[in-house]
Amino acid sequence: MEVIHVSAECYPVAKAGGLGDVVGALPKYQHQAGHIAKVVMPMYQTKFLNTHEWDVVHKGYTNLGNWWFIYTIIKERHNTLGFDLYLVDINGLLDRERIYGYDDDSARFISFQIAVVDWLSSWKHHPDVIHVHDHQAALIPFMIKHTYRYQQLRDIPTVLTIHNAEYQGWLGWDKSYFIPAWDTWKSGLLEWNNSINALACGIRCAWKVTTVSRSYLEELRGSANGLEALFEYEKGKCTGILNGIDTKVWDPETDRYIENHFNVKSRSGGKAENKKLLCERFALDEKKPLISFIGRLVGEKGADLLPAAIGDSFYYIGRKMNFLILGSGSPVIVENLEKARTLSEGDCSIYIGYDETLSHLIYAGSDFILMPSRVEPCGLNQMYAMRYGTIPIVRNTGGLKDTVRDFGEPDGYGIRFNNAIVGDITQAVWRAVQLYDDPVLMDELRRRMMRLDFSWESSMKHYLDLYASL
Ligand code: ADP
Repeated sequence: MEVIHVSAECYPVAKAGGLGDVVGALPKYQHQAGHIAKVVMPMYQTKFLNTHEWDVVHKGYTNLGNWWFIYTIIKERHNTLGFDLYLVDINGLLDRERIYGYDDDSARFISFQIAVVDWLSSWKHHPDVIHVHDHQAALIPFMIKHTYRYQQLRDIPTVLTIHNAEYQGWLGWDKSYFIPAWDTWKSGLLEWNNSINALACGIRCAWKVTTVSRSYLEELRGSANGLEALFEYEKGKCTGILNGIDTKVWDPETDRYIENHFNVKSRSGGKAENKKLLCERFALDEKKPLISFIGRLVGEKGADLLPAAIGDSFYYIGRKMNFLILGSGSPVIVENLEKARTLSEGDCSIYIGYDETLSHLIYAGSDFILMPSRVEPCGLNQMYAMRYGTIPIVRNTGGLKDTVRDFGEPDGYGIRFNNAIVGDITQAVWRAVQLYDDPVLMDELRRRMMRLDFSWESSMKHYLDLYASL
């Protein structure tokens, strides 16, 4: 099969979160399984762009409303990532340093999608599947089905994977001229709550829709940032497929970001060495359990609860643990974390920013990883943590629910709590502190977790079955 993935992110080219990890890994495994997997993404100004060699494979001329533009498709010459990687260059619009966060993001990502569809329409053959990811690519199924210009693509099967339904790509009707002329009888497919909604449109127009875990799909019918009724209505074509992790990148035995490698057999020594390094760097006490958080500092991840949970843990449990936070996001949360750090007298350290290398050391050197998420479509952190023998403390939601079993259950290994509230987090921290006092049990849980299989092989098979069904 020939599959074209269209996405705004792909690790290691450009990544802001889980979307990048998934699009960087799934095509690689599909390629290894004997299929042709191609990734098409915008050409941002990234280090990857400047350190790799590229060939121009296509140049086209098209328009976004009144604005006509030239786009160029370039391909990475040596297939370093294990699949064909194509970047779309639209001068001035996509070639910027950041992925998101510009005022003209709607124009950027709609032009990107138009360029992709325009390029595909110049091909002499049709790919077997177009697999689009999140709202930045979710208008493609509509474009190929209902715009006049791209009718020759209308029979290509499409799959939309939703990595996060909170962000939907809203666009006022006054900007509807961005989208190439379409059959106006179909305007209803674009609309949700009086505006154009790219994700809602993708859910209606894609042949199949997947979410990145089963529990998340169930939860979306009750809470989907306004799209609940749509998920209920379209449930027949929706499936939850759990993400895998790239076990080549995330392997404590070979990880290129850490110095002290280890495996399930050498886990105690290996983790201790990494913890020592981490604690030295952040002036933390390596004898105390180290509870870390990595992620976007936003309400969705429950990051706003961290400052109070850290304060309450010290107050009710005592100074028996250390906290380490790596993340970036809301300035209010950053300010509150700074306050919590000041009050902690050295038992809490924070690093504001995005640092891939540090994240690997944190997974390797921490005892626990805390994820008090309000919403977690799949969550990769807990799977990375477990592969590095770090016990996840997670809220019972979405992919966290599907991947972490509480150590109170038979063969369990993690810590789960039900509500995204400070009290529940504090109680979970207390369980972690007690668990840490039992080194034999800690070690056994580590052994269990490190043997779990979260690789892409099984998830990838589900995707291949889904494509085949189309
Ligand atoms: P998201 O909702 O942000 O996509 P996921 O759990 O699916 O959450 O993926 C998060 C990914 O981003 C993980 O690989 C995690 O290690 C990484 N990550 C998040 N924040 C940071 C940061 N500040 N520095 C380094 N890596 C980060």
